[in-house]
Amino acid sequence: RILLDNFSKSFGSTKVIENMRLEVAGGEMLALLGPSGCGKSTTLFAVCGIHRPTGGRILFGERDVTDLPSQARNVGVVFQSYALYPHMTVAENIGFPLKVKGAPAAEIRKEVDRIAGLVHIGNLMGRRPAELSGGQQQRVALARALIRKPDVLLLDEPLANLDAKLRLEMRSEIRRLQRETGITAILVTHDQVEAMSMCDRIAIMKEGEIVQIATPAEMYNDPKTAFVAGFLGNPP
Ligand code: ATP
Ligand code: MG
Repeated sequence: RILLDNFSKSFGSTKVIENMRLEVAGGEMLALLGPSGCGKSTTLFAVCGIHRPTGGRILFGERDVTDLPSQARNVGVVFQSYALYPHMTVAENIGFPLKVKGAPAAEIRKEVDRIAGLVHIGNLMGRRPAELSGGQQQRVALARALIRKPDVLLLDEPLANLDAKLRLEMRSEIRRLQRETGITAILVTHDQVEAMSMCDRIAIMKEGEIVQIATPAEMYNDPKTAFVAGFLGNPP
């Protein structure tokens, strides 16, 4: 599980998040859903270790990771811009996290093959990112995030750059992978359909606070506030 316990984050005198509590169960995929500027990425950055919280603790299982740098947290991360290395082939991109760790070449090759099969890009290994479609680049970014067998997968608007058809396809792909690996995941999105179709539970955020956390069905049938109802496109 991931636990944000009393988590706060300010930038200078701007308080973005105050005393948030959020628990993601082991093996669960949770959506952080809310309008632009409500603090979704700020929350995710704290979980992955890019930002230090200004208050509170972050736990993975029972392990307090609050003071650990990103590399020591064993997280896989996919951002909106996939940030693939343009001069490297697909295989080199995917294997890079293992190479940095100093893994032997034979092991890297084996793992790259395994993970490439998982995301169906085994036929693209020699290409460079510029020679791939958006959806293919997306798969490479996912493979690179998964290769270290992370405890936690963090996705920040991973489908935002894709066209409608690819987005639909990648929704079910990512969900399938998450289920197959049993990885605990947080998906940040401002797309309610994406959250509803991909996640076990949804946390709706507004101005740095979680206003409701529930399964998609509960949320849709019993929105606790007009904001939630409006956001889900089901106004009372
Ligand atoms: P979006 O959907 O647009 O990505 P978001 O929910 O991810 O929005 P955040 O990026 O978490 O929003 O930002 C939340 C608030 O914190 C915003 O008001 C933003 O201006 C502010 N903020 C984020 N990063 C910084 C920073 N480095 N310095 C100052 N303010 C920041
Ligand atoms: Mg954001």
